[in-house]
Amino acid sequence: MKRSADVVIIGAGVTGAALAYELARRGIRDVLIFERKFPCSGASGRCGGGIRQQFTTPHNIRLAMEAVNRYETLSEELGVDIEFIQGGYLILAETEEEREAQRKAVALQNELGLPSRLLTPREAKEVLPLLDETTIVSATYCPTDAHANPFRVVEGYLARARERGVVLEKFTEVVDLEVKEGRIVKVRTSRGDVAPGTVVNAAGAWSREIARMAGVELPNQPIRHEIAITEPVEFFMDVMVISIHNGIYFSQTKEGQIIGGIGDPEEKPGYNISSSLGFLRRYARELLRYVPALGQLSVLRQWAGLYDVTPDAQPVLGPTPGLENFIQANGYSGHGFMIAPAVARHLADYIEKGIVSEILEKLSLERFKEEIRGEAFVVG
Ligand SMILES: Cc1cc2nc3c(=O)[nH]c(=O)nc-3n(C[C@H](O)[C@H](O)[C@H](O)COP(=O)(O)OP(=O)(O)OC[C@H]3O[C@@H](n4cnc5c(N)ncnc54)[C@H](O)[C@@H]3O)c2cc1C
Repeated sequence: MKRSADVVIIGAGVTGAALAYELARRGIRDVLIFERKFPCSGASGRCGGGIRQQFTTPHNIRLAMEAVNRYETLSEELGVDIEFIQGGYLILAETEEEREAQRKAVALQNELGLPSRLLTPREAKEVLPLLDETTIVSATYCPTDAHANPFRVVEGYLARARERGVVLEKFTEVVDLEVKEGRIVKVRTSRGDVAPGTVVNAAGAWSREIARMAGVELPNQPIRHEIAITEPVEFFMDVMVISIHNGIYFSQTKEGQIIGGIGDPEEKPGYNISSSLGFLRRYARELLRYVPALGQLSVLRQWAGLYDVTPDAQPVLGPTPGLENFIQANGYSGHGFMIAPAVARHLADYIEKGIVSEILEKLSLERFKEEIRGEAFVVG
């Protein structure tokens, strides 16, 4: 194993993979990725693959728009079909309060150039003909939102990064970080030590543990989210549906399977990733309320993964106060897949040129010292 590297990335999920590629593309090729298990073994290989831009704060909207812009040509750029389906996101609302929140969100999104629209229930049914429109009071729709296959995305990023010299060490766990005079001077792993230039904490729901190794406290908490996939049927929906009422999300994969899940507000923080019957019951009940015809389908598989959740449901990105070579890239709170290509660009700008973009400033670890306004729409 190498004994030093310009950049050490901890975690081979979509964040680590996208950043490694972005750095290598710019000529920063002495990059070493440590992955405790294998690529996609964390949240990236367990997620719904949704890519939305309909957020409620300007920086989240901008970051997501930037990411979609990258995703639109990513298959071509990586030479891998990432199964990008740009059928939009339909966001459902069931109360007057939710409709008002949607109206405000669309106004802000339109101001920033996002072509989202507030729809009546009847208009929503035109987007998704199988929808029972009597369940909702309104919906929003953005035709440029999308979904894709996270395995393909990570595989593509890593393949192209490794071709350019990036080294991926699988089954290699980071067990400690040695700090001296405001810098991480050693990354200790289960297979030996490495002297790093910069260290990037892209360890998903385990980022808090990694940060603690360097004496840094992150406010992140791991929260289980369950998800299920059905048998395939003829392709009938290119739109991804989510509800701000109950947190359900579902879409149809290129193979025709319906993939989706629903959060549980009672879920306690922790590393439990077991599957439950309670989730399946709740998910099926809510799914069939919106689209009764899906009751004909059988569930093939269910699984769970961990959201890495921050107090304002927004990621922690950029340099760490007091530790000049330690970069955070975590805390995605359930929407890390969708923004990964844009996050990689901002972090690469910082690593390459020392540029702290406005996005990195807004989403820095330091914000937790101040009073903060969180992201209101926390669904896939
Ligand atoms: C059920 C579910 C549905 C989701 N749906 C969506 C969605 O539709 N759209 C969306 O954008 N996001 C979604 N997400 C969130 C998304 O999956 C994550 O935000 C994203 O995958 C985070 O990627 P990551 O690379 O930062 O972390 P991860 O993919 O979790 O990768 C972190 C990696 O770090 C490794 N690691 C941890 N500790 C160590 C160590 N000590 N040493 C070495 N390696 C270590 C882990 O093994 C892991 O592979 C969903 C998540 C879940 C669980």
